[in-house]
Formats: sequence, structure tokens, C-alpha cells
Amino acid sequence: MPHAELICIGSELLLGRWVDTNGPWLARALASLGVRVARKWVVDDDEAAIAEAVVQAAGASDLVVLSGGLGPTEDDRTRAGVARAAGVPLEMRPELVEEIRRVFQRLGANMPPSNRVQAEIPAGSEPVPNPWGTAPGFALVLHGAWVVALPGVPRELKNLFRSWVLPRLQDRLGLGANVTRVLRLSGLGESAVGERLRDLMAGPPGETRIGLLSSPGEVRVVLTARAAAEQEAVRRLARVEAEVRGRLGKFVFGADDETHPVVALRAVEAVGWTLAVSEGFSAGTLASWLRSTGAPTFRGGMVLGPGRIRAVGPTPEARCLAVARRAARWFRAHVGVCVAREDELVPAAAADRVWIGVTAPTGAWARSLPVLRGDEFDAQRACHQALFHVRRLAGGV
Ligand code: ATP
Repeated sequence: MPHAELICIGSELLLGRWVDTNGPWLARALASLGVRVARKWVVDDDEAAIAEAVVQAAGASDLVVLSGGLGPTEDDRTRAGVARAAGVPLEMRPELVEEIRRVFQRLGANMPPSNRVQAEIPAGSEPVPNPWGTAPGFALVLHGAWVVALPGVPRELKNLFRSWVLPRLQDRLGLGANVTRVLRLSGLGESAVGERLRDLMAGPPGETRIGLLSSPGEVRVVLTARAAAEQEAVRRLARVEAEVRGRLGKFVFGADDETHPVVALRAVEAVGWTLAVSEGFSAGTLASWLRSTGAPTFRGGMVLGPGRIRAVGPTPEARCLAVARRAARWFRAHVGVCVAREDELVPAAAADRVWIGVTAPTGAWARSLPVLRGDEFDAQRACHQALFHVRRLAGGV
């Protein structure tokens, strides 16, 4: 398995003014390709410190990715640091000057003379043109490792990694073909998912790998398959996907970019219904998710402030369902959803449970979850539960 090291450059990162998100993003992207990130460096804007990190990282790995320090100012030292590490001078590349000039032109401005230094890259390196910004990157081979320097602006780094680095990386590191699929599920916690997939996840990473990512109320199972040829990788992925789907069953709601609200509204639409929500504690989280899908199936939602939910009924469950029913009536929708904390439904109650209620033409369902953190973590978890049961009542589960 090829090894990589990451070098994130910027004194602001060491001062705690910027938070490094490029490193984790690169680590995830490389892991999904079967490249192990063995070490991450965070280095000051200092030529000698950058050179030292590059020499050590290149000596210990197959790939080194640098982020940041490619701007036009005095404190952008990455170009000089890598040149020092490679023992070569900086070289002005006229094609990069033109490239930078074109970026400024597109912005309707003239290129300031100071930006010319961004076209100076270590002699013998390959330029990485950057159509998304003014800082081009570059790549060279040092001590057998492929060293790639990318700009620090996250959008530029990601775009250049995907469009320039990735297609070359597979050849450079002999990675063969790599295919990935993300299965998304709700209604089952990360450890329960881990239990069901334990034997498939055990052992050293081989031709197929399974990783878990969890966020409140949702678990993502990242499946990756590798092979010399693409067709074989696709076949391997299909095999592992079928096995994993078999074990996780109804809890899988979608794959890749399919979000839970999109899938839930699709299920509602498939049976010819519409949906409305009423929220207290979750403060519009569910309405915002549903609205952002753009689906007309979502009729509307209301957010009620503290003490504003008026519900009658003998139990919190009955009150939650009454509020859900009222939302459906108010918006003339078939399905009504309520997410509210117990003390919002029953004024004297403790604030330690959140209720979720769904009413639909086929039935009604209500349940409570313990409040674990008292913040958006609980709200999101409850909203996923609500969507799960919307799908169930619509026959989509
Ligand atoms: P530019 O010429 O566009 O400034 P650059 O390569 O010099 O490119 P930096 O100056 O190092 O980039 O950083 C630009 C911006 O990118 C910073 O203001 C910061 O917000 C962001 N950034 C830099 N490094 C990181 C990082 N490791 N993680 C997340 N954001 C970062």
C-alpha cells in the first residue's frame, strides 16, 4: 500500500487562527484511493522549515502533498522551500505568467507586478495550472517520491486535486482502478452497523474496503474496491455492495449524493401525498432540510417558540400526534410531522426526551428519544427518525 505525507503550510495554522481542513480532506480522498497517510506536518511560513519537512517526508513516502504558501507575498515560502529541498533554483515559467494574467483578465483586472513571482517554480518541476485562482501549483520527483504543491484555498485545492492530481496519481503510484460507493443509512447507530459488518471489516485492507462515517442520525458506509482494471473493480464493488445491503436492509435509504429528505419526499410523492411539519426544539432543522430539496411535495413547516405549542391529550405521545395532525391540517397536507421536546408538549415535564410524531393516511407513529447533548445533535437525530418513519408510512421502507 503506498504511503503519503501531508504538509500544511501557514503560520496562521500554528497560531490557531485557521483550522486545517485541507489535511483531513486530502487524507479522506487518499484513503479512498488506497493510499495511507502516514504523517501530517503543520509548518510555519519559513523556507528552511518547509525544506526540512519536504526532505524528510519525501524520504519516507511515495507521495507528498503540500497545501498553501503559494501566494504572491513575502510570507508565501512554499516555492522557495521546495526548491531548497530539491537543491534547484526557482525558474520563471512564462506560460504560468500568461495563465495568471488570464485569471486576472477574467476578473476584469490587470495583473499586479507582484503576482509574477507566482510563476516562479522549482526548476524541472511540472506546473499545475490553476484556473480557479491566481496561485498555480507544481509537482516534482524527490528521493523517489512524487511531491505536489497545491494552493491553500480549500476550493482551489480540492478542484486541482480532483482534476489534475487524481488522474496522474493512479499511474504514478500504480494504483490501478478504484471505485467507491457510499451507502447512507438511518435508524441504526454506528456501533450496530459495525457489528453487522464486523467480519467484512476485519483484517488488513485488501481489494475491497469498508469504512464508517457517522453524523447525528446518519451513518455512511464507504465501500471501495480496487483492481488492475476498472471493470473488475466495478464487479468487486457490486459484490461487496450487495452483501452490505443484504445485512443492513431497510436501514439503507440511499447512496452517494442521495440525502435523507430527498429520499423521504420521493417516497411521499410516489404515493401521491404531501407533507407538512411542526417543530419546537429542532427549530426548523427538518423544515430547512425538506425545503432545500425544492420538492413541491413539502407544503410547509412552522417553528414554535418556547411555551407556544398548545397540545391536549392524556400522554406526551398523544399530544405529539395531535400537533403533527394540526400541521397537516394547517398546510392541507396528507402527512404531518411533529418534533418537540417533552417539556414543550407537557409543560411540567423534564426536558430530557424529544418526541417525534408522524401522522399519515395509512396510520400514525410516535416515539421518544433521550436528549443526549441538548443541541443540534439531538435535533438532527430526531429529524432523521422522523424521515425514516415518513418513509415507512409511505411504504418506502
Ligand atoms: P493564495 O495565493 O490564493 O493565497 P496560497 O497557496 O498562498 O494561495 P494561503 O495563503 O496559504 O494559500 O491560504 C489561503 C487561504 O486558504 C487562507 O486564508 C485560509 O483561509 C485557507 N487555508 C490555507 N491553508 C488551509 C488549510 N490547511 N486548511 C483550510 N484552509 C486553509
